[in-house]
Amino acid sequence: MFIFVQKFLLMRSFFFKIIIVSFFLSSFLGCDDNNEYRVDTEFESYVVLFEQDALKRNKILNLKTSGLIVEFATLKDNQAGLCHYETPIRIEIDKEYWAKLKGKSGEALMKENLLYHELGHGILNRRHLNTTLENGDWKSIMCGGDKVNERPWNINYRGMRRAYYVDELFNESTTAPSFSTLTLAADTNVFKRKIYLSFDTENKADAGWDMTDNVGYKISIDKKRLLFESKATNSYFIFGQTTVDSKNDFSFEIKMQCESPNKSDNYGLVFGNKDIGDKAIEYFSVNNNSKMNMGNRGWYSFYTELSVPTILPMGINILKIVRLSNILYYFINDKYVYSTESELIDSGNYFGFIVPSKSKLWLDDMQISVLKTSNISPQKSNIAEFEFTIQEQRNESNYYLNY
Ligand SMILES: [Zn+2]
Repeated sequence: MFIFVQKFLLMRSFFFKIIIVSFFLSSFLGCDDNNEYRVDTEFESYVVLFEQDALKRNKILNLKTSGLIVEFATLKDNQAGLCHYETPIRIEIDKEYWAKLKGKSGEALMKENLLYHELGHGILNRRHLNTTLENGDWKSIMCGGDKVNERPWNINYRGMRRAYYVDELFNESTTAPSFSTLTLAADTNVFKRKIYLSFDTENKADAGWDMTDNVGYKISIDKKRLLFESKATNSYFIFGQTTVDSKNDFSFEIKMQCESPNKSDNYGLVFGNKDIGDKAIEYFSVNNNSKMNMGNRGWYSFYTELSVPTILPMGINILKIVRLSNILYYFINDKYVYSTESELIDSGNYFGFIVPSKSKLWLDDMQISVLKTSNISPQKSNIAEFEFTIQEQRNESNYYLNY
């Protein structure tokens, strides 16, 4: 007992000395490092916004006083950001990843997503949370760490989802948002068919365009289906120019089957205006691993990737997109699987499909429908409206957010 007390007293005096020394040192150096605030100007606006978002949720932060360091670094293993639990909290942002976002659509949202995740760790003391909502969206922007079924960390951090994700960040028990249910909240039986390709014969009216066999690809009719065989090392985006504007309400579907070198090769639907550039093209793709993803070509990567058991690997799958106002509803084999806002702001009457590199894609029953209430004359509902173009696309530059 005596020994213990003695030891305790010794320890106390030891700490006391340390405290005195450090107090002396910090007075001598004229600063208190524990409250250092050093945030690179690139990140300043996101930190300020974070404080404002906190305040809206009755959480008062004053990081300029309490301290924070956010700086550029070169991170390993494709990490985009890293939080060090030091005093003050120190966050590193990968320089290369930050630079890659520059000029992309949604640049500010993607940067905010990264900063908020790291601030979630450091300031809100949140840990990784890798559960999902009913529709497959990540439950939280705090997803990260050890991969779950190899799923990328991409979060559809836009529009109505952003509001939910910020609420959830500050309050983990935020109730599931309405967009996350798999109950279809819209009437999608409001369309009438305007354009139809049966692909039954080589006749232009059935096949949509001419049969060909060139260095890049071969188009033929195979057992009443269109067969597109790619010989290229990049994906092809094949567009048909129609009289349907993808900015208005529409329904667009194709029955597809794909044989590709890798099960993860994506095939699917595209629409928009290819003449304006990537930001005017949206896509919906699936693969033989039963995954789907969706996005806008102007963005750095797809919004999110979902596991959809409805997708038949190597089988025939009916992909359908319905647009109502600014919401896109995605269906696979007649089952509603996801919805999200469209990013299209320009008119565009191109509709088409994606063929992965060195793959065979069979198409059947391609149809585009417009609202029953719209005024279309039967004479116009024919294939002559189709003008097909083929573009070889660069390989998807999908980043896999790792933080
Ligand atoms: Zn993290």
